[in-house]
Amino acid sequence: MSKRELRLGNVRVLPKDLFPDFVKGLALFGKVYAPVVRPDGAHVFSPVERVADIDMAHPRTMLSPKKYLFPPETEMYQFSPEKGYFDPPVDTAKTVLLGVHPCDINGMLILDEVFRRYYVEPRYFARRQSLAVIGSSCEPDDKCFCKSMHSEYVDKGFDLFLTDIGDAHFVRMGTSIGDDIVAANPAVFRPVEDEDVRAYKHAENCRAQAYKAQVELDSLPQILELEYDSRVWKEAGDKCLSCGTCSSVCPTCYCYDLFDRLNLDVASGARVRRWDSCLFREHALVAGGHNFRDGRDSRMKNRYFHKQVGFVSEFGRPSCVGCGRCIEACPANISIIEMIKSLREEVKV
Ligand code: SF4
Ligand code: SF4
Repeated sequence: MSKRELRLGNVRVLPKDLFPDFVKGLALFGKVYAPVVRPDGAHVFSPVERVADIDMAHPRTMLSPKKYLFPPETEMYQFSPEKGYFDPPVDTAKTVLLGVHPCDINGMLILDEVFRRYYVEPRYFARRQSLAVIGSSCEPDDKCFCKSMHSEYVDKGFDLFLTDIGDAHFVRMGTSIGDDIVAANPAVFRPVEDEDVRAYKHAENCRAQAYKAQVELDSLPQILELEYDSRVWKEAGDKCLSCGTCSSVCPTCYCYDLFDRLNLDVASGARVRRWDSCLFREHALVAGGHNFRDGRDSRMKNRYFHKQVGFVSEFGRPSCVGCGRCIEACPANISIIEMIKSLREEVKV
């Protein structure tokens, strides 16, 4: 289905007063996780205890759905003297993720490409198969630039997608699982009427006009190459704390480290894959003590080049989806939007 084409057989309307029944019905398809507000004000995907806790109007969750597909730690295999090397079980419990924004759905589509590019990563896809995705529309804030990254809309990657049209959600069905959810809960959906389609178009148009932040993508890889030695990297590097938060919160960062975790018998254990960050000093440190990216500026540059240059040449698009998380989470107030603006300005000098 293209961006504005709606096949009316594939859409329904979910009145908001029936939303609690809808959430209850989702339990047939797995354990439901949705955005809730923590006491510190952060939004996080959490198991749904009470429908009233769900905040469908959340700006962004602290971590993206990446944590369900590519968890912070994964045992790749286990070993013991008796059994040799063997696969640990993968958690394939059916899971329903409710309230996923278009940028994050695009982030998952990017991870899908990464994890099947050269080798199909079975643990990732086992989790992927167990996940039902219920997308939802959102209101962009001053850190959202998903529209600039062509990630503000999805026509795949979800089972159902809910767009807020006032007193109801306009529901697009994306897969047969989405069809099944609708079929299993007939009382909570009604057919679409002309007025709903008008409300849907109005909501989409209002959202398109609500973006305040933007990043100019034209010739960006060439600009980064031209500004390889720019003072902008040095200035940002001087501020950066090398904390790696930007990588952790990013829905598309997938650097990892591998290490062995030994049990107390010092003979059995597991090989563990753990999130890493190219912003960490040790990331490019090699045997013998040489560090290919010893300076914070060079690590910062590496992240931008990977996302905006290397990924484009390999996958045909940047790996940034414009979610704004790295801007919100950076303790040094480094903004990818401002960085790219500054680099563009340098070219004009
Ligand atoms: S680089 Fe920043 S804005 Fe882009 S996808 Fe990652 S966290 Fe979001
Ligand atoms: S979050 Fe900010 S301070 Fe931390 S590594 Fe990233 S850019 Fe540097």
